[in-house]
Amino acid sequence: MKTERLTEKDLERAAELLREGGLVGIPTETVYGLGANGLNEEAVGRIFEAKGRPQDNPLILHIPTGEWLIRYCKEIPQAAFDLASAFWPGPLTMILKARDMIPKRVTAGLETVGMRCPAHPLCRAVLTAAGVPVAAPSGNTSGRPSPTKAEHMLEDMDGKINGILDGGPCTVGVESTIVDLTVWPPRVLRPGGVTLEQLREVLGNVEVDEGVFRLMESGESPRAPGMKYRHYAPKAPVTVVRGAPEQTADYIEAELTEKSGVICFEEYEGRFSGHTVYTIGSVGDLSQQARLLFDALRAFDHSDVTEIWAQGPEDQGLGLAINNRLNKAAGFHVVEVGER
Ligand code: AMP
Ligand code: MG
Repeated sequence: MKTERLTEKDLERAAELLREGGLVGIPTETVYGLGANGLNEEAVGRIFEAKGRPQDNPLILHIPTGEWLIRYCKEIPQAAFDLASAFWPGPLTMILKARDMIPKRVTAGLETVGMRCPAHPLCRAVLTAAGVPVAAPSGNTSGRPSPTKAEHMLEDMDGKINGILDGGPCTVGVESTIVDLTVWPPRVLRPGGVTLEQLREVLGNVEVDEGVFRLMESGESPRAPGMKYRHYAPKAPVTVVRGAPEQTADYIEAELTEKSGVICFEEYEGRFSGHTVYTIGSVGDLSQQARLLFDALRAFDHSDVTEIWAQGPEDQGLGLAINNRLNKAAGFHVVEVGER
């Protein structure tokens, strides 16, 4: 299959491909998504084939406006409307009870569905033009780091999808926050672009699922099906080092071997000269770290490093999402050093 390269001027073509059951790479503010008409069971099935995604890992439905929520969900609690008015359009996915018309392939047979209204202008325009909800997971091959640029997505999907709509680099860079509103208190299943602190301002009480912090053991049944799969991993094994940045830099410097690669804060780049180093922004700039993280993880696959060391930020704000992705990329291989 030839993958059509589309830009803003080809919006109608992208919408047509989606309506007609094709697979289209779509830009969002979080990461690029692999989109298909979410009401078309066959089209949704092709997403799983293209990604090599396990069938029991459900998809998020993307809608152009919050008003569409009541079309596809039932028994919607007030908290969902409160969150929609605070954070939509934006990087928040809400888990709600699904109406019967949602194909089983979207929900992986669950009674719930993940709903998101993205903020990226071109994404909203294509959703509006398509006139259907678009089911989309991240546009990477299953297990690889999520794509934050059209080029990343083509590395994985060229020839496997009908088109890709280039909307430039993603401004958030980590996926949406997933919050389950079918339980009380609401529960964060995946930290993301909307922070826990922001959610607490609107909802008061919010819990964070254990799967955010640790690997699910075999036999445990995770709240978010995606939690049990290997994720975001570059080819070389990753170790995350957490603690005060000065001390994590010292630790990494002492451990380096000839073919080590490093993901570090800007301030510490000089410590690792002679090695393959990707800086993800300064210590305090969590937005920049989130934006650059997946790009860094992918970049190592184009180098000959045999191991990767990464400085992890604090768990506050966007740091919770950044650490979650780093920890998963590392298979939760995390070293704690010193005080913060
Ligand atoms: P991705 O953004 O590529 O990771 O794919 C969507 C994520 O949403 C996966 O981690 C899914 O497990 C999660 N998800 C989608 N629908 C549901 C649902 N109904 N309940 C729990 N998690 C879901
Ligand atoms: Mg994904």
